[in-house]
Amino acid sequence: MKKIGKLVIFGVGLIGGSFALALKKQKQVARVVGVGRSRANLLAARRLGIIDEIATDIAAAMRDADLVLLAVPPGQMAAVLAQLAPHLGPRTVVTDAGSTKQDVIAAARKYLGSNFERFVPAHPIAGTEHSGARAAFAGLFKGHNLIVTPTAETAARALRKVTGLWKRCGMRVVTMSAAEHDRVFALVSHLPHVLAFALVGQIAKAADAAALFRHSGGGFRDVSRIAASSPEMWRDIALANRAALLAALDAYVGEITVLRDMIAREDGQGLAAKFALARTAHRKWLPQKK
Ligand code: NAD
Repeated sequence: MKKIGKLVIFGVGLIGGSFALALKKQKQVARVVGVGRSRANLLAARRLGIIDEIATDIAAAMRDADLVLLAVPPGQMAAVLAQLAPHLGPRTVVTDAGSTKQDVIAAARKYLGSNFERFVPAHPIAGTEHSGARAAFAGLFKGHNLIVTPTAETAARALRKVTGLWKRCGMRVVTMSAAEHDRVFALVSHLPHVLAFALVGQIAKAADAAALFRHSGGGFRDVSRIAASSPEMWRDIALANRAALLAALDAYVGEITVLRDMIAREDGQGLAAKFALARTAHRKWLPQKK
């Protein structure tokens, strides 16, 4: 595969920064230019060797770019696409790493015009609860899935270029439709984040919150870890994928209501059956790593 000459990253945070580091480690990229909102973060990214240059204007950054990665919060994607669209060269491929897909595709279709065929919608299923360039590391994506949701217009060459690079970062490529992606990740990612925020928020507003948190053990830590994630990012994800997330939340409220009724009725048999079903599924699908 041909090495990338110039990679431009909008949003040099955990995901954008880790992509740059992984490609540099694999010697797949000659030069990385960072475009950002926070000067301090970009300076840190340059100091850490994640980017080689800080962009001073979009036109210059986009000139001769081989690949552009959008790794900004979902709520910023449309604005960034509108900003870069007038400066997009005829061969530059654009991709994103956003956690929601239908909204980004709609924005790319709107702003990129005839260049939309060189837009490759993607979502690396890897992350941590930390953000910013300082949280980036080269091994983040290794062994995880990259979901790509190409449209009927997506050019095969552009798709190959993007998936080839993510494979170099250690990812397995999985293809699905954007609607399927948004339904699946509403259930297995966006819903659990909302639950973690709600759980920690409920305890935090109690009068004796300090004592409650002090007494919490490993179980609470396990189910609440992702409540330390970026509020901006998760606000954007919840709103961008609200139809699928509302359906997931409604189903969850139904489950909780059933459990609540069983507890109120002292239906031990019913509770044990529900818990056993969950334990069996967890053991089957989410075995502990040895
Ligand atoms: P992050 O907060 O670490 O990085 C985002 C960066 O974007 C920040 O440095 C911020 O300063 C910059 N930024 C914000 N608005 C901007 C703008 N208008 N123009 C240029 N830069 C801007 O976030 P992250 O975790 O790296 O997430 C980036 C993207 O990847 C998001 O779309 C998110 O949905 C997606 N994603 C995140 C994870 C995860 O676990 N964190 C996993 C997969 C995908």
